Amino acid sequence: MPTTHSYDVVIIGAGPAGMCAGMYAGRAMLKTVVLERGFPGGELLNTEVIEDYPGFEHVLGHELAQKFADHAAKFGAEFKNGVTIDCVRRLDDGTFETIADSGDRYLSPAVIVTAGGTPIKLGIPGEQEYAGKGVSYCAICDGAFFRGHTIAVVGGGDAATEEADFLTRYAEKVYLIHRRGELRSSKLLQQRLFANPKIEVIWDTVVESVDGDAQGLVKNLKLRHVTTDERRDLAVTGLFVFVGFRPNTGIIDGHVDHDEMGYLLTDFNMHTSIRGLFAAGDVRAQLTRQVTTAVGDATTAAIAAEKYLKAIADGDPAEPIVGTGGYTA
Ligand SMILES: Cc1cc2nc3c(=O)[nH]c(=O)nc-3n(C[C@H](O)[C@H](O)[C@H](O)COP(=O)(O)OP(=O)(O)OC[C@H]3O[C@@H](n4cnc5c(N)ncnc54)[C@H](O)[C@@H]3O)c2cc1C
Repeated sequence: MPTTHSYDVVIIGAGPAGMCAGMYAGRAMLKTVVLERGFPGGELLNTEVIEDYPGFEHVLGHELAQKFADHAAKFGAEFKNGVTIDCVRRLDDGTFETIADSGDRYLSPAVIVTAGGTPIKLGIPGEQEYAGKGVSYCAICDGAFFRGHTIAVVGGGDAATEEADFLTRYAEKVYLIHRRGELRSSKLLQQRLFANPKIEVIWDTVVESVDGDAQGLVKNLKLRHVTTDERRDLAVTGLFVFVGFRPNTGIIDGHVDHDEMGYLLTDFNMHTSIRGLFAAGDVRAQLTRQVTTAVGDATTAAIAAEKYLKAIADGDPAEPIVGTGGYTA
C-alpha cells in the first residue's frame, strides 16, 4: 500500500554528494531523507581504491562509502535503500512530490538531486568482469595505477582524445582505438594527440572482448577491423572507455535548465532553474567530476537549502539565498 511521507529535505541518490548533503542537512536539524535505489556509496562502490581524497592516501571505495553513510546517519539523516525514484515534480503550492516506483510519495519544500550519472559501457564480454581490475571509465581516478604500462583507450570524442593524452603521463604506451577513420574531437585536442609519441591510433576498429590473466587482471583485448573483419589480439593491462556519460536527470518532471549534454545548470548555490530544487555532484554541469567536487557541491547545496527553507518560513522565499544571483523563477 503506497504511503506518503513528509520531510524538510529530500535527497535523491546516496553517492558521495547525497551522503554529504544528508550529513549537512541532518546536522542543520532538518528532517532529511536520502533515497537510494541500491546501497549507499554511488560510484564509490565501483571503485577499488581511492588515492585522491584528502586525508586518505589509500582507502577502499566501499570503506569510504561506509564512513560517509555512518557520518550522515550520525547527524540524523534517514537513509532509505532500495528506493528507485521515478519522478520529482513541483506542485502548485511549491511543495515537491518525489515519487518512488513503489508508488510511495515523499513531500518536501526542498529537493537536492544527487543522482550522479552513468558512463556508457561498451557492453562486451569481460568489460564488467574486469571493471576496476584494468577496465576503467575515469582517467584522473585510475591513471596513476598504470605507471609504465601499455594500455588502450576506446572512443573518438573529446573525452577519449584528451584522456589518451593525459594517460601518457603514466603509461608507457597508449593505443587509442576508434571505430571510425577520423576522430570527432576538437582540432586542438587532435593536434596534441598526434604529436604525442606515446600514442598510437588504431582506426576503424572495435574491441570485441576483454581477457584477463590468472590474477583476474586485464591482459589482452580482442579487436576487429570494422571493414575487413580482420581479428587480432592486443596485449594491454588497462582499458579506458570514453564513449559517453549520461547524467541521471530523467527523473525531473518538466523543464529544468541544462547544458547540451543534459547536465543540470545551477547557480553558485547549487540552485537549479526550479526554485527549491538543488543539484550537486556528477549530475551537475561542471569542469570535473570527482568525490571532492561532489562533496563540495553537496555542502553548498545543503546549506543553501537550509537558507531557502528559512526564507520560506520567514515568508520571503523569492529572495536570492545569499545574494550571489540565485534564480528567482
Ligand atoms: C570507475 C570510477 C572510478 C572513480 N574513481 C575515483 C577516484 O579515484 N577519485 C575520485 O575522486 N573520483 C573517482 N570517481 C568519480 C567519483 O566516483 C564520482 O565523481 C562521485 O561518485 C560522484 O558522486 P555523486 O554522488 O555525484 O554521484 P554517484 O556516485 O554516481 O551517486 C549517485 C547515486 O544516485 C543513485 N541514483 C541514481 N538515480 C537514482 C534514482 N532514480 N533513484 C534512486 N537513486 C538513484 C545511484 O544509485 C547512486 O548511488 C570514479 C568514478 C568511476 C566511474
